[in-house]
Amino acid sequence: MGISGISRRNAGLAAVGSLIAAPALLRSTAAQAQATPAAAQAPGFYRFKVGEALVTTVHDGFFARPLEGFVRNAPLAEVQEAAGAAFLPIDRQVIPFTITFVQRGDTLVVFDTGNGVTPAGATNGRMIANMAAAGIDPARVTHVIFSHFHGDHVNGLLNASGGRAFPNAQVLVPAPEWAWWTEASNETRSPEGQRGNFANVARRFAPYRGSVTPFAMGAEVVTGITAVAAPGHTPGHTIFRIADGAGQMMFVADVTNRPEIMMAHPDWQIVFDFDGDTAAATRRRVLDMVATDRIRITGYHFPFPANGYVTRAGNGFRFVPADWSSAV
Ligand SMILES: [Zn+2]
Repeated sequence: MGISGISRRNAGLAAVGSLIAAPALLRSTAAQAQATPAAAQAPGFYRFKVGEALVTTVHDGFFARPLEGFVRNAPLAEVQEAAGAAFLPIDRQVIPFTITFVQRGDTLVVFDTGNGVTPAGATNGRMIANMAAAGIDPARVTHVIFSHFHGDHVNGLLNASGGRAFPNAQVLVPAPEWAWWTEASNETRSPEGQRGNFANVARRFAPYRGSVTPFAMGAEVVTGITAVAAPGHTPGHTIFRIADGAGQMMFVADVTNRPEIMMAHPDWQIVFDFDGDTAAATRRRVLDMVATDRIRITGYHFPFPANGYVTRAGNGFRFVPADWSSAV
């Protein structure tokens, strides 16, 4: 009679099992199974190459807030329709955080630093644990490069005791971003919801005094990594082109929040935008560029593993996740 349905299924499972059962993975999942509830996810990291550079995206968890009030210049019903069309919740906006690392030779760069130490039970603050799972030691990070200074991007500069989470790193910051948030007289000229950033920036950067270097727009900040101005979300919001040999990608930071909603509606302005009109103009310009040039991108608030491509769709754009099987 040949192979029964059941044994064919078993054979299939065995094949899948042998594919993923690399010894290191087996050890970490066994240890995790004992330590975490059944519903917990596996460690979140993902790798791909750009030329000879190794890119790793590391998940830091997520944050949820009401969908109402998230978009400033569209009625809630339209935003709910966009969320529903993307199979996202329509009562809340779930915002993931994923950090991009680039390793080339002895140089290990991290773009932004995640939420840092968060209270027990928080749905974010997973970055350090997931870095460990990925084999990335914070002491090996040579450069921390910032896109902008919102708390979810800079809070991870500090470790649990308030010291340097990246003890050996140079900290490279966009010059216009540094200038804005370190000048106290700008506080009253900032939108009300952004004023807390002044005190937070002072606190988070304090242990790095002497290790912070501002860079100009257009500068090659580290070999192969070039700063590209992308203002609006904050005054000095910056994105980065990463090139190695014939390979290139861009880290587009917060040019869009969740791409499922914001690429379809690039003119929408979100509650976290410092200057919504400028942010929307930047969004269209950057999405148009990466769509035209077919450049792979990572984004800070994209669905994990937070990398893929952009294509035009109607009056806006659409995010196309990169193929898993093309990894490394
Ligand atoms: Zn952000």
